[in-house]
Amino acid sequence: MPVFLCPRCAYRESSSERNVRHQPRGCSRCGFGFSFELLEDYYASPKTALIVCDKELRVLVAGHSAFAVTGYDEGELIGQDVMAVLGLGGFADGDPIARSLEWGVRVLNVPCTYRFNATADFFPAYDDDGGLLVALTPKTAVPSQ
Ligand SMILES: [Zn+2]
Repeated sequence: MPVFLCPRCAYRESSSERNVRHQPRGCSRCGFGFSFELLEDYYASPKTALIVCDKELRVLVAGHSAFAVTGYDEGELIGQDVMAVLGLGGFADGDPIARSLEWGVRVLNVPCTYRFNATADFFPAYDDDGGLLVALTPKTAVPSQ
């Protein structure tokens, strides 16, 4: 059953729980304008940065824990290429973003080094706009800014 994940507050809702009459696309907990549709359930940890990109991989939303993890204000991230601005890359096993978008599948637990060791999860968007959700979870302490 599809699950909707709010990129702002990380609230999860199943499609049957959603109050589509009052909040057709948004989060019914924090009121944020849209929730990201996932085909399978996913739990973001309290430390997981949730970043939504458009189909050109430019940042649309730097939401839940994004400042704590990336050190950037949302305003500094919006419109930037997510790979470039986060310095993601050098993945050991091909390009997980390309794999996620090309096959329309989620790609989980990709080790990456950002300012610290982290794992990245990538989720393709299933609506007509396309796009991608990047979830970045630190595995070691995040250095202070
Ligand atoms: Zn929310």
